[in-house]
Amino acid sequence: MSGPSGDGGGLRLRLEREFAGTELARNLERTFEAEPLEPIGPADYGRYGRRDLLVTRHKGSFIKPCPATLNYNCCNLTIFHFGLGCTIGCRYCILEAYLGTEALVLFGNVEEGLLELTETLAKPSGARPKRFCTGEFTDSLLLDKRSGLAESLVRIFAEGREAVLELKTKTDHIDHLLHLEHGGRTVFSFSVNSPSICAGEEKGAAPLKARLAAARRAAEKGFPVGLHFDPLIIHPGWEDGYAETCRMIGEYLDGAEVAWISLGCFRYLPSLKSVMLARHPDTSIYDGEFIVGGDGKMRYPRPLRTRMYRHLAGELRRALPGSQAVIYMCMESPRVWLDVFGRDPATEGLAAMLDERALSLAGRSS
Ligand code: SF4
Repeated sequence: MSGPSGDGGGLRLRLEREFAGTELARNLERTFEAEPLEPIGPADYGRYGRRDLLVTRHKGSFIKPCPATLNYNCCNLTIFHFGLGCTIGCRYCILEAYLGTEALVLFGNVEEGLLELTETLAKPSGARPKRFCTGEFTDSLLLDKRSGLAESLVRIFAEGREAVLELKTKTDHIDHLLHLEHGGRTVFSFSVNSPSICAGEEKGAAPLKARLAAARRAAEKGFPVGLHFDPLIIHPGWEDGYAETCRMIGEYLDGAEVAWISLGCFRYLPSLKSVMLARHPDTSIYDGEFIVGGDGKMRYPRPLRTRMYRHLAGELRRALPGSQAVIYMCMESPRVWLDVFGRDPATEGLAAMLDERALSLAGRSS
């Protein structure tokens, strides 16, 4: 596969003129030579390809609720939307079917977003969310060494009140942030998988050991760490593979350092399969049995999902004995919650558990 690497090397920066001289542009121009871009909107993104990094205006709010789905429990994260697209190239990435472009987009007016965020965090406790993330439509840290955005975010949350920022990544690009004062209010979260899925289906990501080593470095600087097993994929030897990753987590991290661990079985929009099989005919992750879920996405049948979650939850408890980390399922049904954990917290209960964990790690009570 040719194209930009997982850290954004080899990209062509295209900058709308109104953003020349902004902090974001100055940071990016340390690496890339900017070419001018006429003003464009989301409908135009599809004209650009995987080598393009577009800096353009975002219209509307930078702060969005997670796009939850009816019938499934959601963790109620709030998204700080700074851009979209990703060059890591995971062979299951839902963005491929969703965005309609392979270009990377960063919002040149992100300073307006930071202001909106600061104002949101200044609201009274009951009127603002407790947990924010940036990695819903891209990888939080993919280009961060070049864009410098996360530093501003870490500082805003460190100075702010009871709210936590989660930076989610499959990279190990964290070292430029480790010197920052964070007040326990930035969580570095690493998406992990079995060793063979990491090596075969996430080729542009940091190797699994590098992600866990980065988690270790973050923990040593006092940052809470999150882990996301998403997507859990059926593949030959999956039980042993996931057990091995859990064992490695226990080697690299102490349970007290881990804020939460999410589990989510592979799910995809039906249109993704043909795109991915055309690009990666050797992948077998779309083989096997899928059903159409209540959200229109393809999912493994419920008994299989339940089996996977039980296996992972058991291995994680063994790897991190006594940990207060919240182990939860991302977008799962009340029935699966009952079968795996013996209770259904519903969206409100799940969000409350995670809020409490976040704020306790930030040294504050909820
Ligand atoms: S790292 Fe995340 S956003 Fe990037 S390709 Fe993989 S799944 Fe998609």
